[in-house]
Amino acid sequence: MNENCCDVAIIGGGIGGLYLAKKLKDQGFNFRLFEKDSRTGGYIDQISYQDKIIPLGPRIFLHSRIKKLLDLTRFYAVPSKVITGKFPRYLLGDNGLEKVGPKIIFQFPKLLTHLIFSKNNKAEESIADFFSTRINKTFLETVIEPLCAGIWAADPNDLSMDHLMGGLKNKDFLKKLLKKKPKGLVVFPKGLNPLMEALEEDLAPHIYKNNEIKALLKTQEGWTITTSSGTYKAKKVTIALGFQEMLKLLENSSIEMDPLLKTVNSSDIDVVSFCFSKKIHRPFGSGYLIAKNKGFKTRGVLFDADFFGNETGDRVSCFIQEAKDPISQAFSELQKVFPGLENYEKVFVSRYPKSIFQCHVGVHEKLMTFQENLASYGLYLIGAYPKVGVADVLDKSEKIFQTLNSCFTHL
Ligand SMILES: Cc1cc2nc3c(=O)[nH]c(=O)nc-3n(C[C@H](O)[C@H](O)[C@H](O)COP(=O)(O)OP(=O)(O)OC[C@H]3O[C@@H](n4cnc5c(N)ncnc54)[C@H](O)[C@@H]3O)c2cc1C
Repeated sequence: MNENCCDVAIIGGGIGGLYLAKKLKDQGFNFRLFEKDSRTGGYIDQISYQDKIIPLGPRIFLHSRIKKLLDLTRFYAVPSKVITGKFPRYLLGDNGLEKVGPKIIFQFPKLLTHLIFSKNNKAEESIADFFSTRINKTFLETVIEPLCAGIWAADPNDLSMDHLMGGLKNKDFLKKLLKKKPKGLVVFPKGLNPLMEALEEDLAPHIYKNNEIKALLKTQEGWTITTSSGTYKAKKVTIALGFQEMLKLLENSSIEMDPLLKTVNSSDIDVVSFCFSKKIHRPFGSGYLIAKNKGFKTRGVLFDADFFGNETGDRVSCFIQEAKDPISQAFSELQKVFPGLENYEKVFVSRYPKSIFQCHVGVHEKLMTFQENLASYGLYLIGAYPKVGVADVLDKSEKIFQTLNSCFTHL
């Protein structure tokens, strides 16, 4: 076998790339995974403080959505725990914290009717337009705006409703709704780094670390890949990168792109995690999101303190967008929520440049068409879109695996 040739090349060793790699390995594929850093895992990373794990990236997993991740952690004996019960979420506005539940429950039947029956009939519209016309402006300002701030650090006037819905077709939406799903949240007491390490060990002969992919060239047989250490050839390529990284790579490639895609925005955020003393401070360890956002009334979402407090340490995390001094800004936001908070034991800041992809009105359709075109050339995109979480990334990897599997069994 020629070392510089393979059937499938995966670019990026985050959870998406590694998951696909594991599937390909189990199926006996000839593949390579290229990772630019000296470690794999991408956004999945953690630190420890006083025997507690502090995840720097993803930390919230709905049990109903992460079967693939759970199967993987069980396979590699990485401990996980399902926790059920009530996980109230609060929205932070000018008047302090408010529980999310009642407002949503009250509007739920109306909302559901609109989501099921009025979707797909219209041209792409913004999240703000959808909710202000179908429900009302107060619902938009007090529920939707802070959720958009918390998840995307973005303005609902710009974001596409199709993106929020992940381009769901009506029947899929109904099917998903009717399906009985597992309840609760999943936590990983030792974090997810052990999973990344186990995957890296298992896939070692296929992983080429410290190898940044610089360019891609379409050839008759497949693709020529230029890396920081040489040139490789692959019949099919999967790009498992964040959106901005993918754009950067494609701009250096022989791929024609819709100029609109270059205008896609992402939020540049700092995650600030404060560790508090359990004896002195209450509450401990909540997941707290803030997006400093164009003077919005609301600033983010607060997850119930008990959820994180028991499992991942005595800490509160803030997501701050474009802050000059993230630590003091995040701490002053926290003091508004928890008066009396005077000090913290330790603080960690991690920066995620251009991390959360913001899909604007007009881009969703183009993006979908663009992906379909690339797939017809044997180039597949994992990327965290149209949705944003680990579950979405794994679903996409699985679909790409199915496609690759059928391509190669038919050759
Ligand atoms: C702060 C934060 C909190 C989050 N919280 C949650 C959460 O609670 N729940 C949830 O489900 N999701 C969450 N997410 C989203 C989740 O982390 C991502 O969807 C997921 O980790 C993306 O995985 P990926 O493999 O697609 O990409 P990445 O993790 O971005 O991996 C891409 C990899 O490619 C490498 N790379 C980049 N460019 C190149 C190149 N040119 N050549 C070779 N390699 C390259 C990078 O070094 C990286 O290792 C969060 C994200 C952030 C930033």
